[in-house]
Amino acid sequence: MSKSTELFKQAQLHIPGGVNSPVRAFNGVGGDPVFIERANGAYLFDVDGKRYIDYVGSWGPMILGHNHPDIRAAVHDAVDKGLSYGAPTAAETQMAELVKSIVPSMESVRMVNSGTEATMTAIRLARGFTGRDKLLKFEGCYHGHADSLLVKAGSGALTLGVPNSPGIPEDFAKHTLTAEFNNLDSVKQMFTEFGDDIACIIVEPVAGNMNCIPPSEGFLQGLRDICDQNGAVLIFDEVMTGFRVALGGVQAYYDITPDLTTLGKVIGGGMPVGAFGGKAEIMSHIAPTGPVYQAGTLSGNPIAMAAGIAALTLLKNNADEIYQTITTQAKQLCEGFTTQAKKAGVSLTTNQIGGMFGFFFTDASKVENFQQATQCDAEKFRKFYHLMLEQGVYLAPSAFEAGFTSTAHTQADIDATIEAAGKAFQALA
Ligand code: PMP
Repeated sequence: MSKSTELFKQAQLHIPGGVNSPVRAFNGVGGDPVFIERANGAYLFDVDGKRYIDYVGSWGPMILGHNHPDIRAAVHDAVDKGLSYGAPTAAETQMAELVKSIVPSMESVRMVNSGTEATMTAIRLARGFTGRDKLLKFEGCYHGHADSLLVKAGSGALTLGVPNSPGIPEDFAKHTLTAEFNNLDSVKQMFTEFGDDIACIIVEPVAGNMNCIPPSEGFLQGLRDICDQNGAVLIFDEVMTGFRVALGGVQAYYDITPDLTTLGKVIGGGMPVGAFGGKAEIMSHIAPTGPVYQAGTLSGNPIAMAAGIAALTLLKNNADEIYQTITTQAKQLCEGFTTQAKKAGVSLTTNQIGGMFGFFFTDASKVENFQQATQCDAEKFRKFYHLMLEQGVYLAPSAFEAGFTSTAHTQADIDATIEAAGKAFQALA
């Protein structure tokens, strides 16, 4: 028995499902998860001593690769001074200034501890600001696990087949309206019916939790216009896309300004961090300036701030090179996978934007919405997943997650991945 399997058995005795976040249990692909011992650069090393080229990157944050020496050093320095104070530090202002300089629509920024906290609070703020109760989200988009947002959700909720989680009172869920991603008519329809009650639209501006689905032309601008016409707050959830699709996120890539933005994992360089921010007029409604309550004992934690400042500084100072590298790699992977799949006679479609990519086992030439994403061949994905894992390539263990590249991946890593994919497609055909 492998050490991973042994550890998974032990974990299941003490932790629900043996994991602290559901998708890690490999429910989406079957088999036992790989237990990780350490990570460096583009690689994960499991407890059995096997090395994997990693395209999960801790689900997004490792744009600079694992265990980057500058980020590690910043964390060590911070640890030497103390772990948490529960009082203000200069680092929090430095972090806010840094985030604002990269994402200018965030005129004021509040740090939290996770993406879930960021989106949960952004919605409370939008509701408090507008005095309205309803929110509009998109089927297959995931915004963390706050009650209002686990309605037709993507990511692990979708992988496990519970997009509408039990435990959420109907009285809450009824305030969550859902529309179809990339279908403005479905949004307009909701506004025609409920316009005066809708506090906000929250959207992953590039969907990354039903695999990778970029917005179709005019979709995000359409959302901006609809919010403006109806007095609703537009929230871009850039927890996954911020600093990944482009330095300034999707809003910079398409030049569309949301009212509020949520950020997560990436801004902590791997530490547990999230943030929300936006128009000063809206942000002034948050406590202690305003009446909308939000707080956090460990928010703005000095270790997390040190890691985040180091990570964002590196990204900002080397942006041209970094975003060119991760974009080229993601493109190469998509092109390479497409070529290899064709050779093997396997139907495959890919999506890519910046350092984010997705591939779908489908005959369809394009995958642009939730319906198409869920119609892909899940069984083929499962087999492909394990064929890649055996060859030392670690992809997200679900057909409903995006893949991520990093500056630590070398050309040799990309070539080896495409070669492994070629063998996997041949085995599938
Ligand atoms: N929003 C998006 C777009 C996400 O991808 C995620 C997590 N993958 C979240 C919110 C929730 O973040 P967290 O897991 O840090 O709570």
